[in-house]
Amino acid sequence: MTVRTSRRAFLKSAVAAGTSLLPLPAVAEAAPPRVVVVGGGFAGATVARALKRADARIAVTLVETNRTFTACPFSNGVIAGLRDISAQQFNYEKTVADDVVIATGTANLVDAQARSLIVGDGVRLHYDRLVLAPGIDIRWDALPGYDETAAERMPHAWKAGEQTLLLRRQLEAMEDGGLVVISAPANPFRCPPGPYERASLIAHYLKTKKPRSKLIVLDAKDAFSKQRLFQNAWKELYPGLLEWVSLSNGGKVTSVDPATNTLTTDFGRHEAKVANVIPPQKAGRVAELAGVTDRSGWCPIDPVTFESKLVPNIHVLGDATIAGAMPKSAFTANAQAKVCAAALAKLLNNEAPAEPKLINTCYSLVAPDYGIHVAGVYRPVNGVLTEIEGTGGVGPVDAPRATRALEAQFADGWFKTITTEVFG
Ligand SMILES: Cc1cc2nc3c(=O)[nH]c(=O)nc-3n(C[C@H](O)[C@H](O)[C@H](O)COP(=O)(O)OP(=O)(O)OC[C@H]3O[C@@H](n4cnc5c(N)ncnc54)[C@H](O)[C@@H]3O)c2cc1C
Repeated sequence: MTVRTSRRAFLKSAVAAGTSLLPLPAVAEAAPPRVVVVGGGFAGATVARALKRADARIAVTLVETNRTFTACPFSNGVIAGLRDISAQQFNYEKTVADDVVIATGTANLVDAQARSLIVGDGVRLHYDRLVLAPGIDIRWDALPGYDETAAERMPHAWKAGEQTLLLRRQLEAMEDGGLVVISAPANPFRCPPGPYERASLIAHYLKTKKPRSKLIVLDAKDAFSKQRLFQNAWKELYPGLLEWVSLSNGGKVTSVDPATNTLTTDFGRHEAKVANVIPPQKAGRVAELAGVTDRSGWCPIDPVTFESKLVPNIHVLGDATIAGAMPKSAFTANAQAKVCAAALAKLLNNEAPAEPKLINTCYSLVAPDYGIHVAGVYRPVNGVLTEIEGTGGVGPVDAPRATRALEAQFADGWFKTITTEVFG
């Protein structure tokens, strides 16, 4: 594990840890409360910085495996050759400048009794409150034939980075006239509209660069996010090129064979030139290690504080949570993190947190100049995050192309705004 910190944060954490680096001040201060955050993505990086803003006394340590964060939103654009992966990458310099101590390494053991965790090769961190924001892991045991080796041939590209680039390279290498197959999982999974945005942008790539090719989406569902908007756009933009196969029509992939790039369903077999398998998912592994997942593989939380319903003093944010009606999105992760930071600042000062309202908006690109969206406002009702009636919904079905072009610009603006807030 390596630790990065601003001078001010380093001195504070040294005092909190009882390390005598400096002559002790004349009046000993009470030890500041310690919060450790695991995962420096949209939820984790947000909560770490928001906590320092809410109460600068709190000693905040952010544990993150990677020095560079690679964002998933807009990574479908990388796959379709519309942007470079560098546009997806962010560092933690501004987080350090906010007096958050960065511990680079993987948290791999949580001792909830002792309120401590182990990072990397054995460094132990103690906390008063722990926040887990690890995102997702793939359920490698869920789809016969699909394991980590198979993912090298049939990329999921559901965690951005090398997998994104692998899928990009495969599409580039494919000859015109090839068959691309995407398999989409059953709910719940990271980014409900993501597979359909990906299908759209790959279709755009094929239409413009390899027009004799075909794209099939095999789906384990009969309905999906923003379905009408997507399907109307597909009819208009990609007729004959993009085919969606629902669960009822035999879309559920039951096994894959990476040796032949074949996806099997109850209704038949599809041998693809490029196969993008988006498999079933679960909360990031550290959540399981901490005992905060239930049998679903996701984490039940209190919707006011995001404290685990299973283990006290551990809070869970973002994709890893069971968050009622809120979808697993970066927008959601960021919104939950701000609510959690405010709640933690109250709890650590023995005050009661306020009941929150949270917003989510998910934009998707159907083509570079064609955007659509879904939005919602949520609040806790009987312990569950519930959409407030009449607050959200999808964009208009019959909007003119000028509106779609504007929505594509809004999507771009949203990504710039959120990444600036979280990492800039
Ligand atoms: C193709 C695609 C397109 C998407 N498009 C959109 C979009 O347009 N809009 C939108 O709002 N959302 C979008 N999403 C969803 C969005 O990416 C996720 O919902 C969001 O990243 C969730 O944030 P998170 O903080 O929970 O997890 P992440 O952002 O994945 O962050 C988790 C972090 O935790 C770290 N970590 C995990 N375990 C450990 C450990 N044990 N120790 C240390 N570090 C650890 C990881 O390295 C990672 O940096 C998209 C997703 C995909 C796949």
